[in-house]
Amino acid sequence: MQRVPFYVAGRPVDGAETLVVRHPYDGREVGRTSHADPEQVDTALAAAAAVADRAAALPAHVRAAALDHVSRRLAERAEEVARLITAESGKPIRWARVEVSRAVATFRWGAEEARRWSGEVQRLDTEPSGEGRVALVRRVPRGPVLGITPFNFPLNLVAHKVAPALAVGAPIVVKPAPATPLTALLLGELLAEVTEPAGSGGGPPAGTGGGLPAGMFSVLPVPNERAAELVRDPRLPVVSFTGSGPVGADIRRSAPDKHVTLELGGNAAAVVCADWAADDDFQRAAERIATFGNYQAGQSCIAVQRVFVHEWLLDGFLPRLVAAVAALRTGDPTDDATDVGPLIDESAARRVERWVDEAVAAGATVELGGRREGTTFAPTVLTGVPPDSRVRTEEVFGPVLVVAPVPDDAAAFAAVNDSAYGLQAGVFTHSLQTAFAAYRALQVGGVIVGDVPSYRADQMPYGGVKGSGVGREGLRSAMEDYTESRVMVLTGI
Ligand code: NAD
Repeated sequence: MQRVPFYVAGRPVDGAETLVVRHPYDGREVGRTSHADPEQVDTALAAAAAVADRAAALPAHVRAAALDHVSRRLAERAEEVARLITAESGKPIRWARVEVSRAVATFRWGAEEARRWSGEVQRLDTEPSGEGRVALVRRVPRGPVLGITPFNFPLNLVAHKVAPALAVGAPIVVKPAPATPLTALLLGELLAEVTEPAGSGGGPPAGTGGGLPAGMFSVLPVPNERAAELVRDPRLPVVSFTGSGPVGADIRRSAPDKHVTLELGGNAAAVVCADWAADDDFQRAAERIATFGNYQAGQSCIAVQRVFVHEWLLDGFLPRLVAAVAALRTGDPTDDATDVGPLIDESAARRVERWVDEAVAAGATVELGGRREGTTFAPTVLTGVPPDSRVRTEEVFGPVLVVAPVPDDAAAFAAVNDSAYGLQAGVFTHSLQTAFAAYRALQVGGVIVGDVPSYRADQMPYGGVKGSGVGREGLRSAMEDYTESRVMVLTGI
């Protein structure tokens, strides 16, 4: 099979070490690329550093045109990109299509923000010493960004690093997940379409409406040891990491002087409140929790994992939830009808199996599922899970729902907070008072009222507290992260 190139300073290149990408469902080869060697990495980083000043001065219309171009091209190639996501991540095709349409919007939104990104004028005459003065406050890039991404959203989470970087005029080096580099490389291909041709002397490529300097982006598949070196390299002063907690902690330790954003894991909870008891309500909560506990086989940082239900509702709710989970179709992710596909690899599926077995040995009841076949784990519902079981305390990252009764709202919110993580929580209630009580009490980055914790709009601030990370993504939030304010005081006006 031919090797897909990676991108060093905007140009496609090939490396010496082959990286084979396999389909998580049946292990067949779906493509190959190569690792960037240390010299190629050095070229990419030197180019990013060299172009940083020019990138920061790029006109907004050039940055916005590049972002619009990527958005448009992703939309044109949507089905091909979705199939590639499914092939390398095992994500069911219907969810891969959703991911592509989100990435189309992420880039479009990036273009809009690039046009809006203006700073502000602050009056200083609020004190006598400031009479006759105003401050111009603008944000300037901190420097080239290192974006490290996980396997579970191989397109949109790369988009969440690239789009804000281009929007503010910061060069970016992307380090994609080893299991899913091909989608990031396809994105590299689209970015290369709006990159100045070699030797062009700086004019925009014909027909694109904009041109990025060549050093503006690189996409470097590298082994993890080389990724750790990237994290320490002083030429990349901003590190934006999305991935697991232990790797995030390593990154924080090894880059104490850098501006580091960590988007880490979670064990998201949904609460079914006392007022959510009508027939339709029950059905909606059951269906939403079933779907979003199992979408992408639970491999989302905001997949529902823990479900807290008011104790007098549990008998009515549990059979609906079990029926809704049982109705999900598990199987080949390339099939349009499949709801739940495989986990990323067999060791991930074995780990989920081990944690479920441990919970059962400690007294939990399997209401549904609990079985593994190769890389696929059957959608599972557990009750009676002891509070210290790993399926409750850790991030399962698999299709497992743990359902527990709670006596009242306060106990439900305390149960949600009884976690090392805090990304998002879902609260099924009609009461504005309960919604605000949840908003005040829950230690999370986002409270989703009337739905599951798994809702995310790509423009809104998104991120966690406690073990779920530091900082926020979402276009505007990431743009603020990648920049710092610079003030100019004008006197005598
Ligand atoms: P991971 O931590 O294993 O890997 C993430 C990335 O880090 C990969 O590109 C990997 O190659 C790289 N990496 C590994 N070791 C490194 C090192 N020492 N230095 C630098 N980079 C290194 O995570 P994963 O298994 O790919 O993804 C799943 C995790 O990501 C889950 O915990 C999930 O919750 C989390 N996640 C979080 C969010 C969020 O926005 N909060 C979104 C998606 C996924």
